[in-house]
Amino acid sequence: MPYDDSPPSPESASSVSPERRWFARRSGLAVGAAVLAPTALAGWVLVQVTTGAGADDARPPRIVMPAASPTDAVAVSPSSAPAESPAASQSPAKGPLAGKTVVIDPGHNTGNFKHTSEIDKKVDIGTNRKECDTTGTTTNSGYMEAEFTLDVSRRLRTVLEAKGLKVVLTHQADRPFGPCIDERARIGNEAAADAVVSVHADGVSEGNRGYHIILPAKVKGGAADTAKIVGPSRDLGERIASNFARTTGSAPANYLGSGTGLVVRDDLGGLNLSTRPKVFIECGNMRDTKDAALLTSPEWRQKAAQGIADGIVGFLGG
Ligand code: ZN
Repeated sequence: MPYDDSPPSPESASSVSPERRWFARRSGLAVGAAVLAPTALAGWVLVQVTTGAGADDARPPRIVMPAASPTDAVAVSPSSAPAESPAASQSPAKGPLAGKTVVIDPGHNTGNFKHTSEIDKKVDIGTNRKECDTTGTTTNSGYMEAEFTLDVSRRLRTVLEAKGLKVVLTHQADRPFGPCIDERARIGNEAAADAVVSVHADGVSEGNRGYHIILPAKVKGGAADTAKIVGPSRDLGERIASNFARTTGSAPANYLGSGTGLVVRDDLGGLNLSTRPKVFIECGNMRDTKDAALLTSPEWRQKAAQGIADGIVGFLGG
């Protein structure tokens, strides 16, 4: 999430790193606008207007409510020829998980804010053109979403590898910025992943809490054609949602998704370009004090990773 709709914390100017101060300055830009908003909801709407269409997890121009049960979905069968990747690791598995590959996409990159011109460049997402990537959000004390997503992704990899699954991370902040959203999708496709999860945390106003899973809408345009992944992605997302709620004790988001914890979007390149079952998870709201206390806790992040892993394993039949 790229949004900054809260004032910087008091500590931000003196006792934190240059990276933290950069985000604090970014936050300061939004203060003047934020005080104009009389309510949290109005503040949220205002942010949509001032930030416009951003990159891959920017607030959508429209949110499509989840359908009950898509009837046109076709199951995507597992493949046994995953691509090589420097981030991949392997261990033997037995039973239904044997030979299966999971791609985990840690949202954003801790270096993105140093490369704004590169990540602002538009890429083709089939249905549209969109920014390569975004910086992501931070907590009010400066904990970066990109730090959070990488930490949860690594914990998730450890849990899945213990089950014998092959796991590929799209990056480990081992590159200056990115990958761009089209490359993030391509990594899942070329790995012939049986499931792909993009890990994020949201950045909306205080009082908005909880997790939500973003499911791909049925879209077709250019290289985007999600008809075959809509059904299996919903299954994957529903399993992750229920397991995440169980392991973390968190509730579905109270600010979108009508309490289901599920939202369908047609504007995300990472979903539109995927040919493999894929969802995003927004684990909580970094800009809410209570949610931030969870997101900054290593113990909570382990529970989050466990819940996501349990959902993936259930989806794969393990
Ligand atoms: Zn994000």
